[in-house]
Amino acid sequence: MYSLRNPTPRTNVSAFWRRFLRSLQGDKRECCIPVGVLAGGNAAAEAALPLETGGILLGCRVGGSVSVARFLEVRDPWASPSSYRRDHASAEGILATELGRLGSEPSLGYVGEWHSHPLPCAASRQDQREIARISEGTSSPIVLIVLTPHATKDGWVAEAWIAMGGTSSPALIIGGEAIRDSS
Ligand SMILES: [Zn+2]
Repeated sequence: MYSLRNPTPRTNVSAFWRRFLRSLQGDKRECCIPVGVLAGGNAAAEAALPLETGGILLGCRVGGSVSVARFLEVRDPWASPSSYRRDHASAEGILATELGRLGSEPSLGYVGEWHSHPLPCAASRQDQREIARISEGTSSPIVLIVLTPHATKDGWVAEAWIAMGGTSSPALIIGGEAIRDSS
């Protein structure tokens, strides 16, 4: 059973990730994204090709860590292969609709932003600054997920940043089973 206190069974973690986990213990920022949830974001990114797309993330927080439960797409009619702008009013409408639909899951709320980079590249400095700026207005951690095509094979890879109090840092992505059954 998945829990935030013990996000990943040790036996399923590669040596690389164990080292990574240890390296983060001083400033532990983790983003838990169940595999099925990530697949939803990847599908939206794939469908938008060759343009960027993105939106907001629904989830919950424990300490400095964030668990993502939904990728909500907020389409940008002016998106290009190298730019995406998330419209605030559209995002608020989509968030309100989704929260209304999830009335029985009051612990879920806005936890951050996501967008795709169809041309394989990491989160830009501007992406990092933007998520840091958003975090200035709240005492809660804000996550940024950037999805980009795998460099050598089919599929997408995800990169996470978590911003708190106006500064952003790379976060470890932990995949696992969903916190709760969302059916
Ligand atoms: Zn970007």
